[in-house]
Amino acid sequence: MPSPFEKLQRYIRLESERGYDNRAVVGGLDKIIPWWEPEARTSTVAEETLQAILERLRAYPKAESEDRSRLVGELEILLEPLSKLPRAERPPRPQPAKTAPRPEHLNRPAHPVRSPERPSGNLPAHSSQPTRPPQPRTSPAALPSHEALDQGLRAPVTVLQGIGPSNAKTFSALGMNTLDDLLHYYPRRYDDYSQMKPINRLNPGEVVTILAAVKRIDNRNLHGKREITEAIVEDGTGALRITWFNQPWLANRLPVGTQIVLSGKVEMYLGRLVMNSPEWEYLEQEHLHTNRIVPVYSLTAGVSQKQLRKAIYQVASFWAPRHPDFMPVSIRETGNLIPLSTALVQVHFPDNPEKLAAARERLAFDEIFLLQLGVLSQKRSWQVATAQTFTAPEEWLQSIEAELPFALTGAQKHALGEIHSDLASGHPMERLLQGDVGSGKTIVAALAMASVAREGAQSALMAPTSILADQHYRSLTRLLCADEPTPGKPFKPSEIRLLIGDTSEADRQEILAGLANGEVKFLVGTHALIEDPVSFQRLQLAIVDEQHRFGVAQRAALRNKGENPHLLVMTATPIPRSLALSVYGDLDLSILDEMPAGRMPVETHVLLPLERERAYQLIRTQLKAGRQAFIIYPLVEKGDRDDESKAAVDEHARLQAEVFPHEKIGLLHGRMTPEDKDAVMKQFRDHEIDILVSTSVVEVGVDVPNATVMLIEGANRFGLAQLHQFRGRVGRGDAQSYCLLIPETDESIENERLKAMVETNDGFVLAERDLQQRGPGEFLGTRQAGFSELRMASLTNVRLIEKARQLAQLLFTQDPELSQPQNQALKAEMSHFWGNGRGDIS
Ligand code: ADP
Ligand code: MG
Repeated sequence: MPSPFEKLQRYIRLESERGYDNRAVVGGLDKIIPWWEPEARTSTVAEETLQAILERLRAYPKAESEDRSRLVGELEILLEPLSKLPRAERPPRPQPAKTAPRPEHLNRPAHPVRSPERPSGNLPAHSSQPTRPPQPRTSPAALPSHEALDQGLRAPVTVLQGIGPSNAKTFSALGMNTLDDLLHYYPRRYDDYSQMKPINRLNPGEVVTILAAVKRIDNRNLHGKREITEAIVEDGTGALRITWFNQPWLANRLPVGTQIVLSGKVEMYLGRLVMNSPEWEYLEQEHLHTNRIVPVYSLTAGVSQKQLRKAIYQVASFWAPRHPDFMPVSIRETGNLIPLSTALVQVHFPDNPEKLAAARERLAFDEIFLLQLGVLSQKRSWQVATAQTFTAPEEWLQSIEAELPFALTGAQKHALGEIHSDLASGHPMERLLQGDVGSGKTIVAALAMASVAREGAQSALMAPTSILADQHYRSLTRLLCADEPTPGKPFKPSEIRLLIGDTSEADRQEILAGLANGEVKFLVGTHALIEDPVSFQRLQLAIVDEQHRFGVAQRAALRNKGENPHLLVMTATPIPRSLALSVYGDLDLSILDEMPAGRMPVETHVLLPLERERAYQLIRTQLKAGRQAFIIYPLVEKGDRDDESKAAVDEHARLQAEVFPHEKIGLLHGRMTPEDKDAVMKQFRDHEIDILVSTSVVEVGVDVPNATVMLIEGANRFGLAQLHQFRGRVGRGDAQSYCLLIPETDESIENERLKAMVETNDGFVLAERDLQQRGPGEFLGTRQAGFSELRMASLTNVRLIEKARQLAQLLFTQDPELSQPQNQALKAEMSHFWGNGRGDIS
């Protein structure tokens, strides 16, 4: 928020740039006095200084050009030391209570935000003393206690001026119920309107702010539908045409002669400069929407950008500066962090890009720091918890391994070794098993489950879709069971059960009974597993496959089905180890970095759009050999976002009619119900379908070894991680497989990602590449463990994550329980952060 002195500085700089023509302010520099003086008086400026400034402002219009330059120079000198001056409190002073305040304290306590409505038509621009909205104060006189602040911030948004019950509903839809929510509703982006220019110096394409007076304004209809408000504004150097759409009331609000501030993009139209739908404000009012770096928030129907800005401004200006800082001083200093109060003001209404960056850094740091501290203390509490020990003898395991249809890879053996030592440790395992698509995680899970079942305990394996669950169920049965158990297949089929949405009621009852009496040792399923009334006799191992597809609560629910069960989560997301340590700080990590032997690497080619027929030819040949193919398109229907992109629905019809008339083609897209999607996937798995046309929904780890071609249309639109996931759908059998990438245009053939895909099949290499190019965001979806609720922190910022992690670790070693006095505020913040479920890991 610029101070009055900074604002004046801007005007006089503009004045000097213009060669002292007294037009930086419409009507003359002295015209700012009526609104500037009261504002300046809210600061602690000395009366003589103020008078000295006012004197010069009044003298300026009458002065000769040379004298004007001197006056401007003097003003500069007077203003220089003032521009950073703190504001003084102004009556009526808001009274944050010492003890539990009632929300009434917020009832328009500070200063009403002025509505942009003007009382009536043709008031001279500066005749009225403007009512001004509150100024954020950087050094408030009295800080309320943490509790009082907490209470106040928990007041509902309706205590704000201009927010009634119906607005409150809309705000609630955006997740904003209390003032605190508002304060943490960070802008989606910012428009930089801080550059002010006279009209005769505007260039097309510039985003600027101008100060001008309305010269003409009227409404007209376009094609009888759209109402257009057209205005001509002038600032003494020139005139500019302004257009607004569907806001006919503007003509009344901005009568001829009104002085306004306009911010927006300058465009060229029919050889003239124009501004379309600029933001505007009256010159004399506080500028929230123009003439500054303006925050832009995500909206929903029923709330306008201006409304939201005003509401947030009320909170940011009164509460943010009073926000105590929970971060211990030592951390703030070592981390080079700005105070929280400053950050909360600056993130919404930044003075300049540097302050904004510092604010974002601080807020993002806080999130990662709190997350890391929580992760560390969680890990500690697990380490002290006890768990049942499982120690399957070496020979017992070897008998099973000997009958597997393949030999385990070294990486699989290594991971199993780690898992077994966890199971034998007496403390609950907390392990992440990470392995590229097709690296064979399922068998590792199966053998861990077997070791638990051997001692009569139960384990559960949860997968994100029923087709995956079904696939796991079949694998487990095939690998571990025989009707007459042997040392190689020591379990009976009845000991392994599948529980999914479609499971018949009779089967379900049988499964529930079997779980209760301990007969069922392995339960495989979808989220159906965590729904009541599933309860286990003795759940000792919980496994979550494709863990990023589950929410925190779902994983916790599975684990809560047992008492301190061992936990194994599996993911195909190839995160470089350094990053994994930060993201999954609480989990031990096992990596399958070796593919099963005999896998033929998928051959990957980039084709020009014109070469599409060659791709179809390859598919035909493969289908003739009894194989199957995937064809992926970026969007569901034409016109979704971009008419040019291939649409799965349309293309499905075209392919069936024109390209593959004799083949069975299935269709899979995100608008289908989960049941329908599953049905189609099953048909494909069972080879009732030859070609599966799909959008990106096919990504999940489905194993159809007979599929040998993956054709990806619009390949330039997908991220590297996603492309790699798609490719992982083929090459899962022993036949040579192909991945064909067709970008939308010939030019995108040079696309770096597509090139990387051709160069390597190794998910970790690709991960490192992507990390270098764009940071880890690509590989860690926002729903990635624990990071789902981060509002500010971006996982693309490895440097920040590293810094937060190191400082969290440092603090944790010094005071793991946060019992020292200087860490009490942090402790409270921690319970708030974690209590809200904002951060959780496993
Ligand atoms: P993912 O890690 O993607 O979950 P899966 O567990 O589905 O991989 O395994 C992919 C395929 O590889 C399966 O068909 C599985 O039977 C097979 N497989 C697993 N381990 C080996 C191995 N050591 N040698 C050969 N094939 C293996
Ligand atoms: Mg898998």
